[in-house]
Amino acid sequence: MQTDPSPRPSSGPVTRFAPSPSGHLHVGGARTALFCWAFAKGRGGKFLIRIEDTDQKRSSDAASVGFLKDLDWLGIRWDEGPEYTAPDGTLVGGGPNGSYFQSERLPIYARYTEKLVAEGKAYEAWDSPEELEAMRKEATARKEAFRYRFRGEVTAEERARYLAEGRVPVVRFRTPQVAITIQDEVLGDATLPAGEVDDFVIRKKDGFPTYHFAVVVDDELMGVTHVLRAQEHFTNTAKHMVLQDALGFRRPTYGHLSIIKNPDDSKMSKRDKDKVLRKAVKEKALSAPPAGTVTAEEWTKWLGDENVQLDLDGAIRLAEALKVQLPEINVDDFRRSGYLPEVICNFLALNGWSPGHDIEKFDNGFLKERFGFDRVMKTPAKFDRVKLLAFNTDAITGMAPAEFARRCRLHADQYRPDYVARLGDAKFALLMTACQERSKTLDDPFRTNGFLLVADDALAFSDDKTVRKALGIGAAPADGSRSGLEHLRAMRGVLAGLSEWTQAALESAATAYAAEHAQGKIGAVAQPLRIGVSGGTVSPPIWDTLVLVGRASALARIDRCIAWAGALG
Ligand code: GLU
Repeated sequence: MQTDPSPRPSSGPVTRFAPSPSGHLHVGGARTALFCWAFAKGRGGKFLIRIEDTDQKRSSDAASVGFLKDLDWLGIRWDEGPEYTAPDGTLVGGGPNGSYFQSERLPIYARYTEKLVAEGKAYEAWDSPEELEAMRKEATARKEAFRYRFRGEVTAEERARYLAEGRVPVVRFRTPQVAITIQDEVLGDATLPAGEVDDFVIRKKDGFPTYHFAVVVDDELMGVTHVLRAQEHFTNTAKHMVLQDALGFRRPTYGHLSIIKNPDDSKMSKRDKDKVLRKAVKEKALSAPPAGTVTAEEWTKWLGDENVQLDLDGAIRLAEALKVQLPEINVDDFRRSGYLPEVICNFLALNGWSPGHDIEKFDNGFLKERFGFDRVMKTPAKFDRVKLLAFNTDAITGMAPAEFARRCRLHADQYRPDYVARLGDAKFALLMTACQERSKTLDDPFRTNGFLLVADDALAFSDDKTVRKALGIGAAPADGSRSGLEHLRAMRGVLAGLSEWTQAALESAATAYAAEHAQGKIGAVAQPLRIGVSGGTVSPPIWDTLVLVGRASALARIDRCIAWAGALG
């Protein structure tokens, strides 16, 4: 039995990130992990990950891997923890204190539970749910909070009877009736008066430890010296402290982090995505789901109950159909939207910590050197998406073109494989060169250029003011000069006769045409061409766009545009 506390390294602090694997890694969790990592790594210590899966079985593996992938993408690697092979082939994790999945540590918790029971510091409690409910009601009638207390020894006969009735006991900790002072390096200290903490459960009926018990045992055995975690655990710390005392464990230093909020003060939650979608559905007064998004059944259930959430894939499909941007909440959402991991880390660090001296832009190396509990903010940070996008834009603008192309390719391989398949390497590279200047995210080159993927006969031309104006639909130029549509008709002929389909050849042909027929105004020619091949007035530089679309497609699209605009008059 591992009763002796494991030795703590004299070399530096040990921190841990201990996610419960439910779904994806939320930005709040990512910030906790980042701070824990920075604190330990900046002081020559160790950062470890432990998966707190005592509520679910290891069926949560997929979620754990999702968490690990998200952390690795952020550049946060762990010295100990679940084993994970990073995309670059590095094996991360492992270590002498495993398993790092709590669901695989049950015998360890059982030994410590038994020790407490043997010492009279914990006891089996056989109450049925009905009995507990009755006690709760009594307390309410007395206008008191219900706090479970030791109800006397259970005799051998009672025990036998309970067993015969099929009851299964929980194990409760006999909490000492003393005042407990929580020492917190971030929020400051707080004292809970004696009697505030009840005899809480440490082993559930299913034999699993409760969170409180597992966390205390694991922090000790894994040699954790500093616990930095979400504020919601602040009062739990009192329970952890009394358990540590009873088990003879050392006490880590604690710091609790306030939550990250939306600018309107609401909690950043995945429900925010459903909110945006519901609003769009209402505005568009849709009565049925757009084709290929969610099933009629899901739609009815979702619209009928504000608490129902769509699954991520359905939400993404619906957002695309409704042309709305889903608010990013989880790390993976930001990744999918094309944010850079170093920008996310920088921004998350600023949401809760400040290096002082008005320094705003820094990398994880800087954070690691400077991070300490002393400059962690006590009040909730407000997540300013506009500022985050500005940070991302700055980083992309400042990136070497080859690096931008490399990162976009990785992004596309994962989230936009259609572009890779459709464009091939050379055109993909051209799209990157053409788009870097106006991209705010790694996804912008794809998000804004959907026309590149559309079949020629499926390209839709937007019937809006800017398009009508550029083509001269409904209002031919008063001076009798050629309208945009007429330029397009004429240019169709010029383009068809070109012997080469390169930016230079296209530009020089259009320049010559414009000199003769558009008073040298290349824009008067370029814009109708842009509409012709992309369906709208926004695209990468026109000559690049024409090369990207290719000669045959460009001509076919222009023909369709001419027919479409001609029909509009
Ligand atoms: N598993 C807990 C959570 O996900 C973390 C607990 C801790 O850090 O002590 O909130």
